[in-house]
Formats: sequence, structure tokens, C-alpha cells
Amino acid sequence: MSNFEYLLSPIDKIKGVGKKTLNSFTKKKIFTIFDLLWHLPVSRIETADDTEVNDLQVGKNYNIKVTPIKYNFPRIRNLPNKVICEKNGVKLDCIFFNSYEGYIRKLLPLNEEVIINGKANNFRNKFQFVNPTSKNTNNLKFINEDSKYSLTDGLTLNKYNQILNNVLQNLPDLNEWLPPSVSNLFDNVTWKECVIKIHQEEITKIRNTKYFRRLVFDEIFANFLLSSNIRSKIKKIKKKNKIINLQHQSKIISNLKFKLTVDQISSLKNINKDMGSKEKMFRLLQGDVGSGKTIVSIISALNAIKAGYQVAIMAPTEILATQHYKFILENFNIYCNAEILTGKTEYKKRKKILNDLLNNKIDILVGTHSLFQEKINYFNLGLIIIDEQHKFGVRQRKKLSDKGGKDCDVLVMSATPIPRTMMMTIYGDMDISLIKSKPRNRRPIKTYSKNETKINDVINFIKSEIIKKNQVFWVCPLIKESKKLDHQSTTEKYKYLSKIFNDKVDIVHGSMSKEEKDKVLNKFNDRKIDILVSTTVIEVGIDFPNANVIVIENSNKYGLSQLHQLRGRVGRGNKDSSCILMFKAGLSENARKRITILKNTNDGFKIAEEDLKIRGYGDILGFKQSGLKKYNFADPLQHEDLFNIAEKEIKKIEKNYTKINNFNKLIKLYDKVAVINETI
Ligand code: ADP
Ligand code: MG
Repeated sequence: MSNFEYLLSPIDKIKGVGKKTLNSFTKKKIFTIFDLLWHLPVSRIETADDTEVNDLQVGKNYNIKVTPIKYNFPRIRNLPNKVICEKNGVKLDCIFFNSYEGYIRKLLPLNEEVIINGKANNFRNKFQFVNPTSKNTNNLKFINEDSKYSLTDGLTLNKYNQILNNVLQNLPDLNEWLPPSVSNLFDNVTWKECVIKIHQEEITKIRNTKYFRRLVFDEIFANFLLSSNIRSKIKKIKKKNKIINLQHQSKIISNLKFKLTVDQISSLKNINKDMGSKEKMFRLLQGDVGSGKTIVSIISALNAIKAGYQVAIMAPTEILATQHYKFILENFNIYCNAEILTGKTEYKKRKKILNDLLNNKIDILVGTHSLFQEKINYFNLGLIIIDEQHKFGVRQRKKLSDKGGKDCDVLVMSATPIPRTMMMTIYGDMDISLIKSKPRNRRPIKTYSKNETKINDVINFIKSEIIKKNQVFWVCPLIKESKKLDHQSTTEKYKYLSKIFNDKVDIVHGSMSKEEKDKVLNKFNDRKIDILVSTTVIEVGIDFPNANVIVIENSNKYGLSQLHQLRGRVGRGNKDSSCILMFKAGLSENARKRITILKNTNDGFKIAEEDLKIRGYGDILGFKQSGLKKYNFADPLQHEDLFNIAEKEIKKIEKNYTKINNFNKLIKLYDKVAVINETI
């Protein structure tokens, strides 16, 4: 068995791990020997009492560090065995009834420091312990991080330590995978040395040492390599290059109602270059909410169509899919035939669409996840656009890309700003185009916070906005009133607002049918209603430039990035807009911080950085959902320097893609990617 295979073998390969122990480990998500290594001791449980021998109190239980110095085995029936021990020059006796010599020799090896545990006794003016237990101080004596290795879990600490000891003693020497320049940064300590070291010290003491930091680096490095590896695989797929007709593109652009921003134009250039090349495109178009990603993707779609291909656009919600579909119909009807397919499209219509797709009668198909879940055969799919995606891990994206076939380019759009250090972790498999600037006509959204009790102020403000022909989103966390949660519900709020604004209010939420939702959204779009009460279904993507006020109830319930996304529903036109964050009295400190940050900045990337600081990286939007498992040790806040070094190294390696294969074993060991949604 190779070294790697040993580490990746199931935990019950270890001697002494039976079914019961295996179950306990499985519960802790420890499946392989490798997994076991990342559960760190946090505190010594076997710290010895530093009581001096002469201060012992009879009848009390002690953990006391002693050194056995002499055995006295009388070998006469009924006479106990005795071990004379010493602590700081004072002697005490350990007395054993009914114990074998061999056992005692093991328990109290001569001249080795041990910790004995037992009740203190005094016999003829000498302290003694009867039948004590002992722990060798060289042995591991740590309690596991989540200290749940209790007896009730079927795993005693002793057993755990025994198993861990066994693993550490058999830890293989692995070939150094770090480039010498990096290894140097950690004084060339080996992986094995580090692993052993981190189990010998408490985490608080080891955290800033080269031992721990090297392991952190390994983790980051392996993760980046995995993304890079996928990227190189995608790059290897040769496709037919698309011929981009720039005249056609200019015509489309000149007919727009607005001028494209510099970043929009340069993103288009990137995309055209990719589509026009013989390598498969796998590009992320990243830009803050309202930065105008949609139009960039649609122009790209029209370019692909002009080049003779079909395009699929996938949106995360039906509302958004419908909106894109309409946007295309209303503005670009002359350049393409568009259709929409969702899980709710009725059978007959679906059949016709599938047929038309195959016969090249449809140029663009807009839809939801169902576009990839079903068996859909295209005539010649050339571009897949995935909007507002932050739910896929790298493996899933690869699958999506494979599904399109070899000539199919992939453009992914995301408005989820990612802290810079996390970029490679989340999107290391893709090329990236950033839209940093917002369209120039934009005015910053003014953000206010209001205690729920001041709702009348809010109502008055809204009345004044409606008089100016503006529209309002009113977001509540719940659909219906809940006994458990003291949150505002859309239905209650709808009733309340209807009393004030009569039939100028309507409601939309996730459990309505598509037809019902469409009807309401159309009413809002056509300005037949002034206020749209909704759940966070409006969070992603939707675009109603005439709405310029958003009221968010129970705003403390949401994370920063989500609030920023919600707020991004307004400020899309050229009017002043406002976001009112409602809250109940008694805000937590973090909630207060979030509100202050939102009031102070409209910059999604800044907000993402702050969010990271408040919540820790495990929770930031886009990361949790990205299908990535958490790093065991690495943390983008604490180890920013290591993330940066890893990124530099990867860039070096990427210049020569074949080299990545040398790291396959490392990637396999540290594979961090969990496929969360196999259906795609
Ligand atoms: P997001 O990046 O959040 O998906 P959208 O693509 O929905 O943003 O664009 C937001 C709004 O800005 C839309 O109404 C869109 O028509 C408009 N828009 C896009 N680009 C420009 C531009 N260059 N100038 C003015 N308005 C623009
Ligand atoms: Mg969008």
C-alpha cells in the first residue's frame, strides 16, 4: 500500500477500530485515517496536580506526576506488590493488590515520569496510592476539539488517544510537494513533522508556529491546485472557434438606450476573444448588483447566435428567467428566436420547444435549473449563460460545462462579491471579468434604519414617494404569520398596507404559482400597483428600474451580503432611491454593525470584506452555498499572507499546465470539494 493509500484508507483499517468505534467516528465525519489528523487537541485533560507529596490530603483524589524508582515484588501470596515513587525528592508508595508484575512494570516503568491517578492514603506515616492508574506523560493526553468523544458516544478518550497514537506512529514520510522556495518559508519542516507536532501541543500554542502554518498552506495550495487542475482540463478541450461579427455587435450596441460602461465593453472584449478562440470559454462575469451584467451576457448571446449557434440561459428563479425572456423579446426580437422553459411549462408546449430546439428553430432558450436536469437535445448549443449563480462548486460547474458539449462556451455571472482572498478558492477554475464601475447615471442609495415602532414615519415617507410616481418593494422574512418566529409576514403586511393604500398594493411569494407571480410582477412593471410586498424571492436579479424604495423588515435577520443584494433591487434607474432597514428594539452588536456598514457604503466588495470579518469565512454568502467544504485550518482572515503566496505559486505552475499532474496525490488527499447537487 502506498503512503497515500494508507492515509486515505478507511479508519477501521486501524488496529482496534471495530464496528462500534467506526460508528462513533462516522458520526464525527471522520472516515479516513487522514480525516483523523485534523481533529486537534484543544486542552490537556491530564494536567497533573502540582501538589507536593507532603501536602496530599488523605482521602482526596489526585493526578500527580511521579517517577517510579524501585519495584518491590515480594512474590508471596497475599502480600501486595509495591512500587516506590518519588516526586521532588519525596517518596510515596504505590500499592497493588492482585496485580501482575508485568502489568505494573508497564503501568509504572522505572525512571520514567508518569502521572498516577488515585486516592491518597497514609500508611505508617508514608503516603500511598492503592491500585492507581497511570498515564505516561509522553503519551498523548489531549481532549479532542469538540470534546464529544465521551463515553456516551462510544469512544472513550483513552481509546481515541490510543488510535491517534497508532496513526501518528505509523505516519508515512511523504515526498515533499511544496516548491523549495515555499518550503523554505517554513524552515523546511516536513508534512509529517508538522502533523505530529500539532498533536503534541495545544492549539493556542501552536497556531502561529511554522508547523501549523505549513499545514494551513498545504490545505490552501491543494485547494487551488484542484481548481487549477479542472481549469487545465477545460482548457485542453479544443472547440471550433466562433466567428464574431463585430459589425453586428456594433449595431446592437448603438440601438441600446444607454451607453455601455468601460467595464462592460472590456468584458465583452474578453468574452469575444474567448468565444473566438479554439479553447473552451469558462468565464466568470463578476459585478456588483446593478452593474449591468445582463446586457453584456445578452450581447454575447446574440454574437454566438450570429456565429451560427444556439444559446441557453439559466436563471436561479422563475421570476428572473421570465424577466430575461421578456427583456430579449422586447428588445432583440429581430436578432433571435427566444423561448422559455421551466419546470412548470406544460407538456404540449414543452414538447414543441424540445422539437424546435432540435430543429434549430429556437436560438435562445431561457430557463431555470430544469434546463440542465432534463434531457434536452440542442441542434448546436454554443454558449451556456448561468445567471446569478453562487450555488455551484467547481465540480458542478465542470459538469455543466461538459454537458454543453465540446463546442459550448460557458459564461457564469455572479453579483456575489467575494473577498479578494476567497476569489481563488471559489472561482479558481475560471477566467474572470470584473465590472467594477456602475453605469454613470446611478445615484447612491440612501440607507436608513428604523425601529418597527416608527412605522408611521415610513408610511408617510412612502406616501410622498408614491406621489412622485415612484414604486416600493416591501420585504418580509415570512410568508405567513408564525407562532414560533416573531417576524413580519407578507400576508399580514399586505393586509396592513392594503388598508392604507387600497388596491395599490399586491403580494408575491415563493409558494405562488408561476402564473400568479407573473400576473403580480406584470402589474408592478406596468405601474398598476405602487407597492409590492414580497419575501426575498426578489433578492436575486430582478430589475424594475422604476422602483426606488425598498423597505426590509426584520433586517437584523439577514447577513450583510444578502441585505446588499436586496438593497440592489433599487437604485437601478436615475432617481434618488432609498433603503429602509426596519428592526425590532434590542439589536445585537453584530446586527448594529451590519446596519452601520450598509449605511456607510454601497460598495459590494467592501461589504463582502466586512461581512467576512463579522461572520467568519464559513458563513459568507456564496461560500457556504458554493458546495465547498470548509477548510480545516485555513482562514482567509488570519492567513491572508498564505493565501497570497499560494496564489502566486499557482500562477507560476499554471504557466505550465502539465506540471499540475505532479500534484495529483496532494489534491486527492486534500480534496475539499463536495458536490452538493448531483442532479445538475
Ligand atoms: P446586474 O448586474 O445586477 O444583473 P442588470 O444587468 O440587471 O444588473 O442591470 C441593471 C440595470 O441597469 C438594468 O435596468 C439595465 O438595463 C441598466 N443598465 C445596464 N447597463 C447600463 C449602462 N451602461 N447605462 C445605463 N444603464 C444600464
Ligand atoms: Mg442580474
